[in-house]
Amino acid sequence: MPYTEEIYARVVEQNPGEVEFHQAVKEVLDSLKVVIDANEEKYRSLGLLERLVEPERIISFKVPWVDDEGKVQVNKGYRVQFNSAIGPYKGGLRFHPSVNQSILKFLGFEQIFKNSLTGLPIGGGKGGSNFDPKGKSDREVMAFCQSFMTELSKYIGADQDVPAGDIGVGGREIGYLYGQYKRLTGLYEGVLTGKGLSYGGSLIRTQATGYGLIYMLEEMVAAKGESLEGKTVIVTGSGNVAIYAVEKVTQLGAKVVAMNDSNGYIYDANGINLDVVKDIKEVRRGRIKEYADLVPGSVYTEGKGIWNIACDIYLPCATQNELDLEAVKILKANGCEIIAEGANMPTTREATDYILENGILFMPGKAANAGGVATSALEMSQNSMRYSWTAEEVDAKLKGIMKDIYAKVSDAAARYGLEGNYVAGANIAGFEKVVDAMMAQGIV
Ligand code: NDP
Repeated sequence: MPYTEEIYARVVEQNPGEVEFHQAVKEVLDSLKVVIDANEEKYRSLGLLERLVEPERIISFKVPWVDDEGKVQVNKGYRVQFNSAIGPYKGGLRFHPSVNQSILKFLGFEQIFKNSLTGLPIGGGKGGSNFDPKGKSDREVMAFCQSFMTELSKYIGADQDVPAGDIGVGGREIGYLYGQYKRLTGLYEGVLTGKGLSYGGSLIRTQATGYGLIYMLEEMVAAKGESLEGKTVIVTGSGNVAIYAVEKVTQLGAKVVAMNDSNGYIYDANGINLDVVKDIKEVRRGRIKEYADLVPGSVYTEGKGIWNIACDIYLPCATQNELDLEAVKILKANGCEIIAEGANMPTTREATDYILENGILFMPGKAANAGGVATSALEMSQNSMRYSWTAEEVDAKLKGIMKDIYAKVSDAAARYGLEGNYVAGANIAGFEKVVDAMMAQGIV
């Protein structure tokens, strides 16, 4: 049996029920097959893939806190420290009821290759809790964050593991987490990224994932000899990634006509008014359907189906497996030419295969959304230097990194005769650096 298939079977057998983790491993191994086949003997002798698919450490803990009614609540907390071959573990914290070990392992595994692609010295990790910040008071969120950090603080540090935000973890949560870390350890260090500007945050970090996605999109469009001017775009989600993707792509002359949240989607033929979305989502923490009440001519539709709207470019920026085979067939039939993933693994495996076989240009999340973690690494650098770069400096570095990732991804695909297959290109380019570092460091 080929080495990649043997390892996939081992992962399924040893991690029962962890379907998201299996899916992520399968996608990576399938596209690395060409590289691994060519080096099979060497990699086998070093147990390279066995070591790559096993997290270095998983920390799992209880998070007790008291709600506003005085009732004790208990959530599950996790940190998956997946791979530190090229730097301290780095990856976000997700607070969402769906969070479980499988989802965090899939995200941590993806993070290894994404972080490698940035060219910066950061290993792969991910963490979070099944806590749902939605509908909680600020005091409840603070109580939860303080309890979560009381345990997590034992395992993280500026040169060890540096978490950031993800779904459900924004500026408010990072602030409460940082305050508690500092109180417990007495250290004022860059242990978290996504911090506020008044206490060590980096300019442009809030915008970085969305802006970076659009800088990547610019490269993809340019490779087709086109520009973003006049393109019709759909951006899914209406959180951090989605909002700043809409902001940048609109600045560059495209028109975003639809966005959604987990309840339904809005369509605005005149182009989404982002100030209204920001007010609903960032200020009032409301629902996207309120947009239709505030903007004449826009329409709200309850439920799924945003992909039924025609577009040139589709940017899934909400969550994993939001885009399935049926949906991409409709996108293709309606003329969609490019899909770039702002979210992590938003496209199912069947849908990805269809996209690659049917000539839609596709950039996977580990390359397209790497601007967030790259700017987090720039925040770490600024914290270490005790110095801050200007917004223009950070934005220019972010743009340079996204261009560089595009070049690496398309070069890796071309080297293996897979021109235009950016899924393979991203996995191969990310893998090469990690493997090199793992081989140099011996069996650890
Ligand atoms: P946020 O919590 O800020 O926003 C998530 C958005 O997605 C919300 O609007 C949410 O709506 C919506 N959503 C969630 N589930 C669904 C669903 N099933 N259908 C439709 N909409 C849904 O998270 P982020 O913007 O930070 O993260 C989005 C994605 O990007 C995630 O996959 C994350 O891992 C990835 N990512 C984030 C980075 C970052 O820097 N923030 C970096 C790299 C990747 P609702 O409010 O209804 O739940």
